[in-house]
Amino acid sequence: MTDKVTNWAGNITYATKELHRPHSLDALRALVAGSGRVRVLGSGHSFNEIAEPGADGVLLSLAGLPTEIEVDSVARTVRVGGGVRYAELARVVHEHGLALPNMASLPHISVAGSVATGTHGSGVANGSLAAPVREVELVTADGETVRIGREDARFGGAVTSLGALGVVTTLTLDLELAFEVEQHVFTELPLERLEFETVARAAYSVSLFTDWAAPGFRQVWLKRRTDQPLADFPWASPATEKLHPVPGMPAVNCTEQFGVPGPWHERLPHFRAEFTPSSGAELQSEYLLPRPYAMDALRALDAIRTVVAPVLQTCEVRTVAADEQWMSPSYGRETVALHFTWVEDAAAVLPVVRRVEEALEGMDARPHWGKVFTMPGEVLRARYPRLGDFRELVGALDPAGKFTNTFVRDFLHPLS
Ligand SMILES: Cc1cc2nc3c(=O)[nH]c(=O)nc-3n(C[C@H](O)[C@H](O)[C@H](O)COP(=O)(O)OP(=O)(O)OC[C@H]3O[C@@H](n4cnc5c(N)ncnc54)[C@H](O)[C@@H]3O)c2cc1C
Repeated sequence: MTDKVTNWAGNITYATKELHRPHSLDALRALVAGSGRVRVLGSGHSFNEIAEPGADGVLLSLAGLPTEIEVDSVARTVRVGGGVRYAELARVVHEHGLALPNMASLPHISVAGSVATGTHGSGVANGSLAAPVREVELVTADGETVRIGREDARFGGAVTSLGALGVVTTLTLDLELAFEVEQHVFTELPLERLEFETVARAAYSVSLFTDWAAPGFRQVWLKRRTDQPLADFPWASPATEKLHPVPGMPAVNCTEQFGVPGPWHERLPHFRAEFTPSSGAELQSEYLLPRPYAMDALRALDAIRTVVAPVLQTCEVRTVAADEQWMSPSYGRETVALHFTWVEDAAAVLPVVRRVEEALEGMDARPHWGKVFTMPGEVLRARYPRLGDFRELVGALDPAGKFTNTFVRDFLHPLS
């Protein structure tokens, strides 16, 4: 028993004071079967109540289970336990000469928790982190195991599942041969005459950063695979020192820059695995829009930058390829993702989050499931064309709604 259980940022204190950590699969099954309401806490890096089980619910962590990372070098797949984080997974995969196609900015997040919310990195050809998942294994409400692979008609709802189907105990992911990446950082990219699509295609993974204190972007990070050509980047100047995405922060915790080639898992995230932030003085929001809206959206944000800048640490613009997970914010559309790292003052930040949502109205924005947003359920529901299929899947696997918390219920079943 602890005093309180919070998320990584500390802005959410869960209603339950106990985090259950079963040490075996049998103990986990028994706990799930014997409980009325259950949610899993991954690495706790979400900024909203998506993992909240409610006062009478059970919050459980898979961190007490033996770490499972089994690479099949011939099939080029890895079977990974539901509690494993990307940093551990990437190290083992790399030791086998293999790679994941992409990573998020921070490698400390859990694989199961990340794919449950549609977490992504950047790159016009890179899907969300759910894209390489080929099978999930779940412990469902009655404690039984259900396996759902890519060939299964239910697969579209099974990976980016918001944690609503059961406890994901293992995932199997496709791998590719290990590759090297160089990171090149540029400064001061103007918004005027920006050719967004050209810039977004300038490397394997491209991120634009701004504090919106002035028009345009303070930094551009290009992550180039060394097996792909190095494009000219005439629109901004090369950085003269190593940079952190938040202006003024020391770059010591950031992955290597200045074009030094290195293994994929030491360049694709922005932050080094060996730097482990236990908590963060920040809040985050993110909106994923069809990519043709990119310039309209950036101009709309520029128009409110004097409102945004005072509570902003950094804004990052990335791209995500369309994917096929029904509940993924990048489902079915080539995507531009507008991310905001805010100061940790929720009272000051929430009105600005609302202003951002107003500015993006008419652009079909879907908020990141793991971050702060204020859009009402009825607006969100209209933006997920396969919501009906997902509801049916939840109903079939979890008829009593053991894994449906308030966050999910507000969205799925507004009237119940
Ligand atoms: C510093 C920082 C950097 C970030 N960078 C990025 C980024 O680059 N790109 C991006 O898209 N997002 C990013 N995020 C957001 C983050 O990736 C998501 O919030 C992600 O869901 C976090 O994973 P987690 O394991 O911490 O999940 P949690 O917050 O613990 O849980 C998220 C959801 O998954 C469910 N869940 C977790 N594990 C399981 C399981 N085993 N079985 C069933 N359900 C489960 C939970 O119940 C909950 O519903 C960042 C967050 C932080 C704090």
